[in-house]
Amino acid sequence: MNIYGISLENLELYLEGIGEKKFHAKQIFRWLYDKRINSFDEITDLKKNVIEKIKSDFSMDMIKIVKVEKSEDTSKYLFELYDGEHVEAVLMMHDYGRSVCVSSQVGCNMGCAFCESGRRKKVRNLESYEMVEQLLLIEEELGQRISHVVVMGIGEPFDNYDNLIEFIKIINSNYGLSIGARHITVSTCGIIPKIKEFSNLELQVNLAISLHGPNDSIRNKIMPINIVYPLDELMESLDEYYSKTNRRLTIEYIMLDGINDSEICAVELSKLLRGRNCYVNLIPYNETKNIQFKRSKMRQISTFYDILKKNGINVTIRREFGGNISAACGQLRSKEEEI
Ligand code: SAH
Repeated sequence: MNIYGISLENLELYLEGIGEKKFHAKQIFRWLYDKRINSFDEITDLKKNVIEKIKSDFSMDMIKIVKVEKSEDTSKYLFELYDGEHVEAVLMMHDYGRSVCVSSQVGCNMGCAFCESGRRKKVRNLESYEMVEQLLLIEEELGQRISHVVVMGIGEPFDNYDNLIEFIKIINSNYGLSIGARHITVSTCGIIPKIKEFSNLELQVNLAISLHGPNDSIRNKIMPINIVYPLDELMESLDEYYSKTNRRLTIEYIMLDGINDSEICAVELSKLLRGRNCYVNLIPYNETKNIQFKRSKMRQISTFYDILKKNGINVTIRREFGGNISAACGQLRSKEEEI
């Protein structure tokens, strides 16, 4: 096992399992996430035999940064994993802090028609340590702490649920990366059983739903997951999420020219969301050379926005980061693999 992939509570269980006191877990976490040691030998407050045992059971192997592309307020990192696979993460400098978009899988099986990450199928899930290390390496490269995390990179996080939750526990822990649950957002295309499980978690993590269509017929065309989990069942699961957590949902809606951006769609979306505690993030589509979809015209996006507003829906148009550095959704990995 990799030490960066185990939560505090599981490390406590491990220590008890080898006949040691569980409070050592907090000490070890401090060495890893506060002092940022590179070797277990740097630990000075544990008995030699405990350190040796940990060394024999855990590795500290790191993924590697193989490319960084930077623009003024955005940096894109390409990572290489132990098996030569690649994933990417994006750092965005906001006025409220530094936010990182992490990947959760190598590739993706959801098959959304507009998405570069899904063009090639899932190769494998990321281990929790591979998600944690994206953040550790970015913090090291940047020399600053990350304040916000969104799981919106390559992959469907709810298709890698257990590793996702372990990752969230590690970065959320005060002894880990100390990123507040309210500063963590998980985005899903709508895997209902996992939305239900997520609703029952004690963590106050935010949930974002990639909706992208106001009805089944449009959603079926661009998001195959909708055929398995149709819109009315999805909305029902979101209502349940809200009633259990009291947390406002984010609805992501990519603006695709001529596909889902008509005034009729805006009215339909307003009806669908009216009375529900959510806010809509309209996302200008990032065009990619391998996929034929086009971004909606700015005028169309404004009209769409106005209709939602008029109907009392909370809505924003997403500020764009990194368009000029292939920071859009799986494009850097694709470029690398093509080379
Ligand atoms: N699988 C998860 C999370 C990863 S995708 C999900 O579906 O939510 C993160 C977001 O980026 C999703 O809303 C996805 O639909 C969107 N996205 C994918 N390709 C995009 C593109 N080219 N331009 C803009 N958004 C895109």
